[in-house]
Amino acid sequence: LIPGPVEADETVLEAIGEQILPHYGPQWMALFNETTDLLRKLYGTTGDVLMIPGPGSAAIDGAVASLVPRGESVFIPSNGFFGQRFRQIVEASGIHAEGIDMPWGKHIDPEDLCVALKEAIPRAEAAGRPIRAVALVHHETSTGVLNPLESLAAVVKSFDLALIVDAVASFGGVPIAFDDWGIDVCVGVPNKCLAAPPGVALTAISPRAWAMVDANPSKRGWYLDLATWRWYIENWGDWHPYPTTMPTSNIVAVHRAVKNIFEMGVEAFYQTFRKAAAAVRTGMAELGFTLYPELSYAAPVISALNARPDFAIGEMLAYLRDERGLMLSGGLVDLRGKIFRVGHMGPVKAPEVISALLSATRDFLTQKGLD
Ligand SMILES: *Cc1c(COP(=O)(O)O)cnc(C)c1O
Repeated sequence: LIPGPVEADETVLEAIGEQILPHYGPQWMALFNETTDLLRKLYGTTGDVLMIPGPGSAAIDGAVASLVPRGESVFIPSNGFFGQRFRQIVEASGIHAEGIDMPWGKHIDPEDLCVALKEAIPRAEAAGRPIRAVALVHHETSTGVLNPLESLAAVVKSFDLALIVDAVASFGGVPIAFDDWGIDVCVGVPNKCLAAPPGVALTAISPRAWAMVDANPSKRGWYLDLATWRWYIENWGDWHPYPTTMPTSNIVAVHRAVKNIFEMGVEAFYQTFRKAAAAVRTGMAELGFTLYPELSYAAPVISALNARPDFAIGEMLAYLRDERGLMLSGGLVDLRGKIFRVGHMGPVKAPEVISALLSATRDFLTQKGLD
């Protein structure tokens, strides 16, 4: 019940337990190509989707350094822990991080972004470090806020900037229309909404992003340079469209997980998150726990709930984990002790898990003599 990584269902576990395939050859390529096609559909793109071995952060790191020249700028509107992380990633490549810090728990407002960009673009230009891209987090898992990506993307387009999106905790859980919304790089992972094991970063890339990669003169290593990846797509595409060995078992698991989603129907799959979120939120409200973000911007993928003022939330999380086998997450950084987070990804969406959670929570309160 944590906000990722999450458990997988039996079909995915069986898939990852099968004999290991080499990362080339006809049997492998058929599975690899089908996986890529399904990921394209889920992203809403006809362009390239890469599976880059590593955590989501690896692809974000590589994308930033590949698109934006050293010494130039990326604008980051941040409203949580992963927004701040974006800033660290950008600066680690010698790129300047511009940005605005929004209060945690509130969404990034498109109007605010527009005003901030209007001011920042000429200032950065005058300082000799022009803004080339906006980087933002779709679902800010630290607060449970789902930023309004479609409207934010429209603002970014109106300034003719590229858009790099951390969709690690939203991809597969809420709709993303990569091509229609004009996103340039979008990174998801298997181990959150798709409920498969961690191991590859699922990375959609627009033609505009590829053009920026071509035009970027800065050195940025080899493995995470997107130009390296494209060289293999273009030159070894029919048998080995990636530069290195692939974690084939992980990709077999992604294949199974994504096929399951399409077999159920993508809309029906998205609905399972909304249903689980509603059940947890209603049940928790009866036990005195209110939602931390505004309901209209709360991602259906997790529920971030306010701690009650009458006891330390850490004690409840320890009880649920140690006595009841239910692992939840606390708050990060300033939100530690103030909120707790319940994930709705993977098998924990099942009604019997949700009722087990709610009755265990009730038992804790009763046992403590609390209302
Ligand atoms: C989990 C998470 C990450 C971290 O992803 P890694 O795969 O560990 O790099 C980044 N961003 C968000 C929004 C997340 O929820």
